[in-house]
Amino acid sequence: MINVPKGTKDVLPSDSCKWQALESAAREVARLYNANEIRTPAFEYTELFLRGVGDTTDIVNKEMYTFEDKGGRSITLKPEGTAGAVRSFIENNLAESLYQKVFYFTPVFRYERPQAGRLREHHQFGVEFFGSAEAGADAEVISLAHTFLNKIGISGLTLYINSIGCPTCRAEYNKALTAYLSKKSADLCPVCNDRITRNPLRVLDCKIPECKQALVGAPKIIDFLCADCGTHFGRLRQALQDFDIPYEINPDIVRGLDYYTRTVFEFVSNGIGAQGTVCGGGRYDNLVQSLGGKSTPACGFGMGLERLLLTLESLGKASCAPRGPDVYVATADSEGKAVQNAAVSLLRRNGISVETDRTGRGLKSQIARADKLEARRLLVLGATETSSGIYTVKNMSTGETAQSDFDRLPQTVKAE
Ligand code: ATP
Ligand code: MG
Repeated sequence: MINVPKGTKDVLPSDSCKWQALESAAREVARLYNANEIRTPAFEYTELFLRGVGDTTDIVNKEMYTFEDKGGRSITLKPEGTAGAVRSFIENNLAESLYQKVFYFTPVFRYERPQAGRLREHHQFGVEFFGSAEAGADAEVISLAHTFLNKIGISGLTLYINSIGCPTCRAEYNKALTAYLSKKSADLCPVCNDRITRNPLRVLDCKIPECKQALVGAPKIIDFLCADCGTHFGRLRQALQDFDIPYEINPDIVRGLDYYTRTVFEFVSNGIGAQGTVCGGGRYDNLVQSLGGKSTPACGFGMGLERLLLTLESLGKASCAPRGPDVYVATADSEGKAVQNAAVSLLRRNGISVETDRTGRGLKSQIARADKLEARRLLVLGATETSSGIYTVKNMSTGETAQSDFDRLPQTVKAE
């Protein structure tokens, strides 16, 4: 017996309608913002993530599925969605195209300790808006997420925003943070001690409780913003107010990826336990250039669909019913069997969903099956029908019947 790999999950046929509902709502909302779908490969050259995500992040240090392919290239399964979208944006010169706003659904692979809301393969709905440095673009990205969450019926999430400044203000902040962390060195884990000199901001994202404790009282980046970053943050707040989107400023949010500048944000659910962040994103004005493109400001988010479904479940809103077939075509005897294929294909060519018996069940048990499947109509084929040329379609909920010749079966089924 071979099981699903640790940290992964099947989406079963009885549940896939929940995913489809999320995806179609996401597509509709993306459309409101004139964003178009982009699909990039599930794996990329490892180099992309080393440069894009940053080599002092948890993702790159501990979580990537990296392997050498048979041609000796280092390959990594996508550990997040942005780097691939940016690589494609640059490679396909989308800066010169009409497509500056993209969205995607993607599997994401991270070697993590599996627990509720934390998987080794999860799925994200992601959005990236390229080409605008204005705070209004950040607000539109946040508004897209907010509109989508509302549309699927999720309420009670908290939107946290913060600014982590630009390289200029970060240089000042890093000095203050490094000084603070150096004094706390004995309380920090070895990885964080290493980060003090390599990338002190990353210490703020450590999940180890001792490190979190040592950070109480650390200087906050929001107090170190330069004038331009301060103005940008003020404009973001105004724009969110214009959009009527409630938010809280949370100076502790820095996000787990190196590429962010200025705005960072999270939507957090308090109904699903420790892994409460369902959506995280922000601005990344230097990423396109650092991956070899022309300097292009951008912002976006990634939303964890499994955590979203957990949230919907906690609200009692995750139900969906897969639809039964429009008609069940039963066969009473060999004469009926002889016209079964012609009947089902005629119906399906006319857009009618059909279930029929392919296991040799008796008529009674076929009818029981039709009932169980919640088929809306029943059509029985047998010698009586084939010899008279009169076919009876029964409405399974009212019990009413209608008669039809063979050729008009689609119209009769639809009318019933
Ligand atoms: P966390 O702090 O929980 O590890 P993260 O900062 O690593 O999250 P992002 O890289 O911002 O997460 O990914 C965007 C979203 O994807 C998260 O907000 C979350 O909803 C979801 N997500 C991230 N990692 C996982 C995972 N291992 N399993 C399920 N969902 C995840
Ligand atoms: Mg993480």
